[in-house]
Amino acid sequence: MMSFDREQHFVIAGLGISGISCVRFLQRNGVKRITGWDKNKSEGAQLRNCAPIDLLQDAPPAEYWNSVDVLVVSPGWSLQHPSLLHAKSCGVAVIGDVELFARVNKRPVIGITGSNGKTTVTLLVEAMLNALGKRAVAAGNVGLPILDTLTLDCDVVVAELSSFQLESTDNLSLHSAALLNISDDHLDRHGNMANYLAIKQRIFDGARAVVAQRDLPTVIAGANTPVALEYGLQASTTGVGWDNGWITYQGESFIDSARISLLGAHNILNIQAALALVMSAKLLPNTLGKADIDALASAVYSFKSAPHRCNLVAKIGDVAYIDDSKATNIGATVAALEGLAQTNNGRIILIAGGDAKGADVTQLKPALDKFVDTVLTLGRDGEKIGRLVAGSQHFANLPDAVRCAHSYAKAGDTVLLSPACASLDMFDNYSHRAQVFIDAVSEIAREH
Ligand code: ADP
Repeated sequence: MMSFDREQHFVIAGLGISGISCVRFLQRNGVKRITGWDKNKSEGAQLRNCAPIDLLQDAPPAEYWNSVDVLVVSPGWSLQHPSLLHAKSCGVAVIGDVELFARVNKRPVIGITGSNGKTTVTLLVEAMLNALGKRAVAAGNVGLPILDTLTLDCDVVVAELSSFQLESTDNLSLHSAALLNISDDHLDRHGNMANYLAIKQRIFDGARAVVAQRDLPTVIAGANTPVALEYGLQASTTGVGWDNGWITYQGESFIDSARISLLGAHNILNIQAALALVMSAKLLPNTLGKADIDALASAVYSFKSAPHRCNLVAKIGDVAYIDDSKATNIGATVAALEGLAQTNNGRIILIAGGDAKGADVTQLKPALDKFVDTVLTLGRDGEKIGRLVAGSQHFANLPDAVRCAHSYAKAGDTVLLSPACASLDMFDNYSHRAQVFIDAVSEIAREH
C-alpha cells in the first residue's frame, strides 16, 4: 500500500540524479501532477527516462504553494531556502528522496552515516553480504538513488546517508544503523557541531539495532535504541574486537589485517563497523559456520578502496604520489596522515586547501606538526592552513603545487593530495580535482 496519494501534486526541487529518480518513481506509481524545479532545466526539456513534466526555473510566487502537497528536496538544497520555508508554512510536506523511499520500502535496510568512511563501510557491507549469499545493493549517497532500488531484485539495501539526506528524512526504520564518527564538516550549512551531530543521530530513529565504536560514546548518546554491537581497536570477547592483528567477533578471529589492502587504522575501524552492521542486522544465522566466516573474510581481503581515497597514482624516482582527493574535511586528512605514517618512513609533502566549509582548520595543526614535512596549499582556505606551519607555500593552481612538491621530494618521500577541504571553489568536484592531480603527476612521469 502506498503511503501517498496519486492525486497529490508533487514538486521535485533539484533535477539531479536523485531528483530524476523521484520523477521516475512517481510516474511508475501513477502520480500525474509532477512539477520539476531546477534553474538549469528549461521549460519543455525532456528528462531522461521520464514522461514530460511541468518545469519551473525560478522560485514560484508564494500563492503557488497552496496547490502543492509534497515538495521533494534534493540533498544539495538547504532546507532554509526561503521558498522551502514558505512552502512548509503553507502546509506542504517537505521531504527528501530517502523519506519517500522509507515510506514505501518493504525490504531490510542497513544504514551508514558519519563524517568519514561512509562509502567505504557501505561498499564493505554490500561485499560481505553478497559473499554470504544475500543479494545486497548499495545505494543513497554512494551513487545509485535509493528509490531506484525499489525496482531491483535484491534482499537488502545498504544505504549511505549524508547529513543532507538525514535532515529531510523522518521515517527511517533501519535493520541496523551506524554513525561512524563525527568531525567538523558542512558547518556552513548546519551552523554548529551540535546541530550537525543531532542531524546525523536521526539515523537511529526507529532502528532495530545500533552499532557503535566503543571510544565514541557521544556519537550514540542520542540513540533511543540500545547498542547491539560495539567495535573498536581493543581486544574484546564481546562484539567486534582487535587482537594481535586480527579482527575478532565475539572473541573469535575473523579477519587477518595482514591480508587486507586498505591502509590505516581508520580502515580497520571501517571493516569492524561493516562486520558489526552485518552481524547485528539479524539477516543471517546467529552463529556463522567456518565456510561463511571464510567467505566473509575473503570478501574483505579482495576489497579495494574506492577511487580517490588514499590511492597510489605513481611512483616516480621512488617518490609515491597519493591521491586522497576525497578527503574533503579535516578528519579524513588526519586519518590519511596517521595511516600513511604507519607504513611510511620518508617525509610527507602535503597538498591541501580548498573550501573548508566553515571548519576550524586549526584542528589540522597537531597532525601537520607530527606527520608533515612541507605543506603546499591551494584554494579559498588554503592560506589559513598554510599559516599553521612554517615554510608553507600557496599556489594558484594544482599542477604548480604538484611541480613544486616534485622539486622538493627525495627518494622514499610521499606527495599526498589530501585537501581537508571541498573542491568546489576550484574544481567541478573531488574527482575532477583528482584528475588534475593525476594528469600533473603523469606529465612529471613523462618528463622523468
Ligand atoms: P565518506 O563517504 O564518508 O566521504 P569515504 O569512505 O569515501 O567516506 O572516505 C572519504 C575520506 O575519508 C577518504 O579520504 C578516506 O581516506 C577517509 N576516511 C575513510 N574512513 C575514515 C574513518 N573511519 N575515519 C576518518 N577518515 C576516514
